[in-house]
Amino acid sequence: MMKVSEIPYTRYPIEEGKAAFAAFCAACDAAKSADDVIAARERFLEAYKHYRESSALSNCRFTLNTRDAFYQAEVDYYDENGPLFAELYTGYADRMLSSPFRAELEEKLGRRRFDFFEVAKKSFDPRIIDDMQKENAVVTEYSKFMSELVFEFEGEKMPLSVLRSKLELSDREIRRKAAVAIGEGLAKVGDRLDDFYDRLVHLRDGMARKLGYENFIKLGYYRMNRVDYDADMVARFRENVRENLVPCIAELKRKTAGRLGIPGVCFWDDAVYVAGDVPVPKTDKAGIFAGAQAMYDEMDPEIGGFMREMIAAEAFDVDARDGKWGGGYCTSFPLEQQPFILANFAGTAGDIDVITHEFGHAFAARNVYRFGDEEIEEGGMETAECHSMSMEFLCWPGMGRFFAEPDKYRFSHLCGCLSFIPYGVIVDEFQHIAYEHPEYTPAQRKEAYLALEKKYRPYLDYAGLPYLSEGTRWQYQMHIFESPFYYIDYCLAQTVALWFLKMSREDYGKALSRYIALSRAGGTRPFGELLEAAGIPSPFEEGSLSALGAECVRIADELEKKL
Ligand SMILES: [Zn+2]
Repeated sequence: MMKVSEIPYTRYPIEEGKAAFAAFCAACDAAKSADDVIAARERFLEAYKHYRESSALSNCRFTLNTRDAFYQAEVDYYDENGPLFAELYTGYADRMLSSPFRAELEEKLGRRRFDFFEVAKKSFDPRIIDDMQKENAVVTEYSKFMSELVFEFEGEKMPLSVLRSKLELSDREIRRKAAVAIGEGLAKVGDRLDDFYDRLVHLRDGMARKLGYENFIKLGYYRMNRVDYDADMVARFRENVRENLVPCIAELKRKTAGRLGIPGVCFWDDAVYVAGDVPVPKTDKAGIFAGAQAMYDEMDPEIGGFMREMIAAEAFDVDARDGKWGGGYCTSFPLEQQPFILANFAGTAGDIDVITHEFGHAFAARNVYRFGDEEIEEGGMETAECHSMSMEFLCWPGMGRFFAEPDKYRFSHLCGCLSFIPYGVIVDEFQHIAYEHPEYTPAQRKEAYLALEKKYRPYLDYAGLPYLSEGTRWQYQMHIFESPFYYIDYCLAQTVALWFLKMSREDYGKALSRYIALSRAGGTRPFGELLEAAGIPSPFEEGSLSALGAECVRIADELEKKL
């Protein structure tokens, strides 16, 4: 088996992509049947696969060592040429849509693929390539700015990621000071952050208008490849969260305050649910991987086998190193059909997410190659995040391998997942407001943000925190800048994952087999159909979260008694 580090890299030049597209067009022009078009399509997709591979591989190598000038230049190349590759892909989609053999093609290749072609076409036009490149440049500038930003805490200088991790410590005074330090640090660069966002909102709004849309919202949804739900359905979902989940979470927070012996939950208490030390892994990296292998072997032979393959291919890079990118992700290399996971182990509960959440993504990527459709992949991000977030809960029975007090971990995990949802919908509604009102001043945006905090997190007290109490929390939520409208997918998937938790406690075998079926289907079926097959109510349906909220409270109460 080839190790990930041995996968050879070569740049995929845009000229090669253009030649492949020209050949596809010529073959379409000469096609005498749907089968001729399908054969041409396969050749084009093969070429496109080389592009996806090279782009993913260069990005991966760059994140492993951000000081590597060679891969930095390669990443810049794909950043710059990404819109041109998008143009080729959209041209291909357009050809498929307008083919004289369309009806037969749809029958042979499936209607769903054509839905995605349509969305690709609606989100792109050569007239906006210039703007797309400008947008990429601003996003890169923002993320560079954020990663270089230094905060001061107790006389020490540190990046935001390190400072934020202090919000999860058991010492309340340290948490409060960390929150103050975040506010003070952000205040110094607030104007810069407002300026970044302002430029992005106007660029995106301008692109939408050039394409004939009223504002960026529709275009943003198309760019997310959303074919299964629209902004009205998302608004209904947010309302479900407010009606059915927020009261449960407010109650959970009230109990948490009692447990922690504090009068109310402040911004700096939001991530803490248990008194005393927060749960951390009891074992080191080798122990975590050995535990994960044993856990998956016990769960299912197929999943255990896949874990063994991932380890043999050295498809995990989890050591925090100087120069390594600080985040975590799961990516995949299509030519080798090899998923890969990057993370930075820190000795916290987050390390366990790597072998549960990211591994859920990797298993889904592997299933796309085996059972799915490589063009459609995992479908929308809401579906992809179901694979990862649900796996976190299916791993609950194995948590004794990683934590000395597994119930303490489970309790914190459940409370954290639940209370994430209101925050996520704030991030989502904020973006709808921002793009509906591109004319808003920074002050108006902050005001809108504050109102959303009151609507969805009435239990959370900003307690006069410098700068943060002014409605600026969104300024360090990178998705708002980098990936518009992405965030709601985490919330939708989180509700699905919680249903899997409920199901797994009633009948683990049934829950697992439904999960495997969901993962194997990837994006080949609409989100609603996937949920129906899994026996999960649609989060868009009015009142559908009511039973879920009650069940989560029941599980939390049960676990709390064991703490
Ligand atoms: Zn994920």
